[in-house]
Amino acid sequence: MSSAWALPGREVFAFLGLGSNVGDRLTHLQAGIDHLHAARGILVDAVSSVYETVPVGGPAQGDFLNMAARVATTRSPRGLLRACHRAEQARHRTRTVRWGPRTLDIDILLYDERRIATSRLQVPHPRLTERPFALVPLIEVAPGASLPDGRSLVRALAARAPIDDVVMIGRQVVVP
Ligand code: AMP
Repeated sequence: MSSAWALPGREVFAFLGLGSNVGDRLTHLQAGIDHLHAARGILVDAVSSVYETVPVGGPAQGDFLNMAARVATTRSPRGLLRACHRAEQARHRTRTVRWGPRTLDIDILLYDERRIATSRLQVPHPRLTERPFALVPLIEVAPGASLPDGRSLVRALAARAPIDDVVMIGRQVVVP
């Protein structure tokens, strides 16, 4: 198993949220993690448990599996987003309906402690604090983390209580 110190250059930690609700969901998640880890300048450092979650917004569709990953990366935020999109494409992700069903979705939830607001990328992810399906796995791999406004992730999650529809199904995706 490789580790963060194997990366050349200055690395930062970033946190990704992964979801799948089409086909063999667990295989898509594992393939996404494997793809990211194989990409230049990215090492997957830790993965959360996998959770089954009820879709929020969008058309009627099947339940998701969601998880989060901590990665060490020397990539810029844009470079990391490109790697996420390539991993999605490798699982034949098609973008048709917004918030529709997808084989694999990978979002950048946090990047270092930075706040980024460009037309293509907003970090922290703009809907992170509204989404227990993203916050619950994220807290597993970033337990002490705070948002750029200083609020802890745990506090943001507590504001959404009670948390229904996010059910741990076990640690079934592994760090490559
Ligand atoms: P989606 O189709 O839901 O995966 O949305 C992906 C689009 O959202 C991408 O084309 C990105 O440019 C944009 N986006 C903005 N902020 C983020 C983020 N933090 N993580 C991933 N995608 C983002």
